[in-house]
Amino acid sequence: MSASEKQIEQQITEFQNNSSFRSIQEVERVGGAYVIRNGEKLLSFCSNDYFGLSSHPAVIDASIQATQKYGAGAGASRLITGSHPLYTKLEETLSGLKQTESAIVFGSGYLANLGIIQALVGKNDIILADKLSHACIIDGIKLSGAKFFRFKHNDMCDLENSLKRYRNKYNNCLIISESIFSMDGDFASIDKIAELAKQYDSWSMVDDAHGLGITNPNNKISLQVGTFSKAAGSYGGYVCCNKKIADFLINKSRSLIYSTALPPSALAASIKSLEIISKDHARIKKPLELAELFCSKLNIKNTGSQIVPLIVGTENKALDLSKSLEDKGYLVTAIRPPTVSPGTARLRFTFSSLHTEEQVKQLANIVSSLWTS
Ligand SMILES: *Cc1c(COP(=O)(O)O)cnc(C)c1O
Repeated sequence: MSASEKQIEQQITEFQNNSSFRSIQEVERVGGAYVIRNGEKLLSFCSNDYFGLSSHPAVIDASIQATQKYGAGAGASRLITGSHPLYTKLEETLSGLKQTESAIVFGSGYLANLGIIQALVGKNDIILADKLSHACIIDGIKLSGAKFFRFKHNDMCDLENSLKRYRNKYNNCLIISESIFSMDGDFASIDKIAELAKQYDSWSMVDDAHGLGITNPNNKISLQVGTFSKAAGSYGGYVCCNKKIADFLINKSRSLIYSTALPPSALAASIKSLEIISKDHARIKKPLELAELFCSKLNIKNTGSQIVPLIVGTENKALDLSKSLEDKGYLVTAIRPPTVSPGTARLRFTFSSLHTEEQVKQLANIVSSLWTS
């Protein structure tokens, strides 16, 4: 074995020893919120398909029709010949929804964050980002080469202190947060971030990956980023912003320029999903109502979003609880460091329009019996 292979073998052993080894498992979605994994049928509480739109007949139909009309793939990057008519329609729909001058669709949410941050700021600039920012935001920050400070999670005083302390020493400043935090389900103070950004002559960027259809758009935020891969049940990322920033990003975002455009099917599905999200209010409210029901049954704090964390502490505790739930027919994945900070391993429950009240009540009963025992 070569020295480098030995090194990675050691690392794998280390992952295994501290219960952080991960493997990819085949999961087949089989209707409603049910999945089959390892031959077992489980009711899943860990999908980001919050409104069940990936299996909505009209969304599926739109994607089939787009494939038939435009083909399976885009054939080139957007700046070459890949920007087919569905891009225009999706971007217009999106900027209408978010009340901005422009919108740009990227390959994914990850690619959007990477490309935007790297394009906007560099060596002489500063980024102030929430402590719990998603990994792809952190990767974008690293690629940008800008000076980077984290502010305490959702702590606007800490953000303002950092602005007071550092803003003048740098050329541009970019403030970054998320609308709904993926692993905690809580909300950022978007209005306050917009206000501080204005006061301190900075850009503001909010990643709305988990908030599509749930949070209110705020066009005082310079860059509203998001994804179609979660609530829209499709695939692709986006940013809504003013025309000037959009023109700049189209010319500077490497992840947009050097990656192939999305398949027409994904764009058509996203267009249809946005249409459903803006009309079907009962569908949109349901995950929030179910999350609230779950929290009240378990007597834990309601996050106000469709994401509810049950923080259990160690990796092993989280894994054990997840395994016990699986034995009872529920799929709830354990979220462990490094995705969350050490000592805060958790079960992350996400609720969707596909769940019923009855299913959530049963889940709550089982969790409370396992959790207190
Ligand atoms: C999921 C997620 C992304 C990545 O979006 P993809 O479209 O899946 O690449 C980006 N930011 C946040 C906060 C996310 O939760």
